[in-house]
Amino acid sequence: MPMTLSPSALKASALLIVEDDRALLDALRPALGDVADLVLAAGSVHEAVAALAAHEAEVVILDLGLPDIAGADACREVRARTAAPILVLTARDSGEEKVRLLDAGADDYVTKPFATDELLARVRALVRRSRGTPAGARVLSTITDGDLVLDLEEGTAERAGQPIKLTRIELAILRTLASQPGRTFTHRQIFDAVWARPYGNPSQYLRVYMTHLRQKLEQVPATPRLLITDPGVGYRLELPVRRGDE
Ligand code: CA
Repeated sequence: MPMTLSPSALKASALLIVEDDRALLDALRPALGDVADLVLAAGSVHEAVAALAAHEAEVVILDLGLPDIAGADACREVRARTAAPILVLTARDSGEEKVRLLDAGADDYVTKPFATDELLARVRALVRRSRGTPAGARVLSTITDGDLVLDLEEGTAERAGQPIKLTRIELAILRTLASQPGRTFTHRQIFDAVWARPYGNPSQYLRVYMTHLRQKLEQVPATPRLLITDPGVGYRLELPVRRGDE
């Protein structure tokens, strides 16, 4: 029998936290030890860059209020130096801010003030996700949900044995979302991946395609379980929970 790690046992090999608030850092450090074998700390983007040059962090927690570079620019700087998931700590909470951060390369964000448990849960989720899809290279090839079978490699789908016709664009959208299940892709990111050219308002354009996809793939298109909207931000693919196959 293969051993499976329970979510709470999942630990990053090394975690880098970039935060200039010493008191917050000291308060978080012991808890971060629960989700990472090695906890590295940096007080600025400059220090973070040095830390990333010396160590391979498996996940980065990045505060946006830093003394040298702040906001989405800090996120872009760190993203340029690591492929590790970035969890951003931000004081602002809005759909617009989330779009800005995701477009700047963040994987997820937590709004200050936050509960430590919430932060740890997000870190574990990012580690789990990044191990499931190493370097984004492995695209999930088959998704099954009840009587739906979706083969993304072959580009075919069927429900209860009946073929469902998917267009080239619909498949490209599905493959983009399936490259990182659970991750919200912004409208712009999906658009760039699928069309690779500027084309008016991506959110309106995408909405039409997502409606078609849901009608084809969801059991109940009005309450989707696979293709989830992150309002004002984008879309993500949620993998169905496997229901007792023994
Ligand atoms: Ca700060």
